[in-house]
Formats: sequence, structure tokens, C-alpha cells
Amino acid sequence: MRSSILIIYTGGTIGMKTDAATGALVPFDFSGIYDEFPSLKRLNVDIEVLTMSPVIDSSNVAPSNWVTLAELIRDNYDRYDGFVVLHGTDTMSYTASALSFMLENLSKPVVFTGSQIPIGVLRTDGRENLITAIEIAGARRDGRPVVPEVSLYFQNRLFRANRTTKRSAEALSAFRSYNYPPLAEVGVNIAYNYPAILRPETFGEPLRVATRLADGIEVIKLFPGLGERVLRAMLSAPGLRAVVLETFGAGNAPTSEWFIRTLQEAIDRGVIVLNITQCGGGRVSMELYETGLRLQKSGVLCGYDMTTEAAVTKLMYTLGLGLPRQQTEELLRRPLRGEFTA
Ligand code: ASP
Repeated sequence: MRSSILIIYTGGTIGMKTDAATGALVPFDFSGIYDEFPSLKRLNVDIEVLTMSPVIDSSNVAPSNWVTLAELIRDNYDRYDGFVVLHGTDTMSYTASALSFMLENLSKPVVFTGSQIPIGVLRTDGRENLITAIEIAGARRDGRPVVPEVSLYFQNRLFRANRTTKRSAEALSAFRSYNYPPLAEVGVNIAYNYPAILRPETFGEPLRVATRLADGIEVIKLFPGLGERVLRAMLSAPGLRAVVLETFGAGNAPTSEWFIRTLQEAIDRGVIVLNITQCGGGRVSMELYETGLRLQKSGVLCGYDMTTEAAVTKLMYTLGLGLPRQQTEELLRRPLRGEFTA
């Protein structure tokens, strides 16, 4: 059975092509995808393309764009077997993480990809990324999609999207998932890591989209020398609702009285503080050192091995649900879409 795939082009380097006359980079018209890549006809998929308007450099992405994208997927959900989202690499991990939370009851593949070199440039990495992302979005096993979650494909690896981070502005393997194994490795064949892939409890539940994303989120990255006045100012920002605290190592922070007191005051005012490590790999375990234990006692929540991208978007999503504080914290304490391992 052929799969039908909707490609949604949002912008970014992948959609650029050199104009033969001027030599300048101009947008590539994805509706002519079969003319450009005739080999796509050999895949067992039917493809349709939708270009978001306007297409944007992903550095300009805002949560409102995530809502538009999520609604687009919802409105087309029943007509396609899978979705490929073409997105600029700069904030792809944020968008893909956000969508992983916003698309509730997802049971079809949503594969994000992009490229470091424009698709119209001879040495592009976009061609392979695009073709393989389409193949993955359409892959089935026993009549079910192989990867029914939000994923990110780049340079021969498929990752759970909310585990990824852009790690290089130069390398073609621009993304990493430091704390979770790839969902697939692509060589001559696509080797799926089946046990690592998230599967819904039941297929065919109607897709629900959470369209309210909270603002008032701050990321505070600790560094030696961060002073009381600056920290206090950051924690007193008007409208502040939650802080992603990027701590040292296994979730450690200074034990100075002023530091703990300033955090504690913010928490007592109702601000949620989520502790993740600023190390790429590894996890927060607040019981390990006195420096982490003090945070735990002040009511700081453990973010385990979550990325900044997942932590920020999960806070936007959970706070956007408008639940009482205790229930919000409850959702933050457990993985909702495989975004951390406790
Ligand atoms: N600035 C571009 C973007 O994120 C970079 C890229 O696509 O790789 O949209």
C-alpha cells in the first residue's frame, strides 16, 4: 500500500536554490519536487507539498507559528499517513519539541528535517535529508507507521525530536541527541531502533492540538560570578511564570545564602523553577551533592536529562493548559512524550 505524505515547508536553508541568471540564493519551489528529484517517484509514497506563508528564517519563529503548524497538521491529519516538516536548523529543535507536546494523541509520523547547505547547491545535504525523511514518514510495519511520534532526521540519524539540540553551525551532522539513542541509523538500509520508538497506547485516537502556549518563561544559565543584583532582577521580571535553571554538572548551584534565598523567594511567589544541566550529556540528580540538595529543598523541580529546548517548550505547554499549580507540577515531574528519562 502506498503512503501519502504531506510536506510542509516553513522556511530555512533547505528551501534555497541558486538563481541561474544572478547567482543569488532564491526560494526553491517545492511544488516542483518531482521534476527536481525524479528519484522520489521510486519511493512507495504519494507526496503533496504545502508552503507556509510567509516562509521564514527559523530565527524568526514564534510560538504563534507553532500553533499555525500544529493546526495545519491537525486539519490534514486524516488525509495523510505522515508529515515531513522542512524547517530552518537554527530553531528546529525548539519547534519540533513544542510540536511533540502540542500534538496530543499523535499516532502518525511527523518528521522534521532541513539542511546546512541549500537544496539547490550541488553539495547539498538537503537532498538526502529530504528523501530519507519522506521514506521514514511513510514507513509501515504490520500496517502501522514505524515512527508514530515527532522526530528529527538529519545526516543519517533519526532522533526523538524533543531530545535534540543543534550542536554545530558548521558540521553537516548539525544535531545531537546526547541522552537518548537514535530512533534509526541510516546506511545502506534504514535500521530502526524499534524498542526506542514511542508508540501510542491506541492508534486512531483523534488528534488534539493544544493551542495555548504560556509566555513568561526565562532561561537562566548559571556561571561563576552571577551576582545577587542581576539574579534578583531576572527573577523579578514582570510576568515571570517559570524559569529553566541551567545548573552545573549533575544539577548543582552555589550554596550561598543569598542565592538560595533569592530563588526561594521567587518560588514562594509562585514561579516554577526547573533544574536542567548546562552539560550537553548527563542528568540532574539533586540528591548527589549538598549544592543540589539545597535547590531541591527550596522547591526546585528536577528536569533530569531534558534539553533546554524541551524544558522551555514543555513549560509553555503545561502552563498553557491553565491547570492548578499542583497539577502543572505533576505534569512536569513525569515524561509526557519521552522527553526525559527519570
Ligand atoms: N538561518 C537558517 C534558519 O534556521 C539556517 C538553516 O536553515 O540552517 O532558518
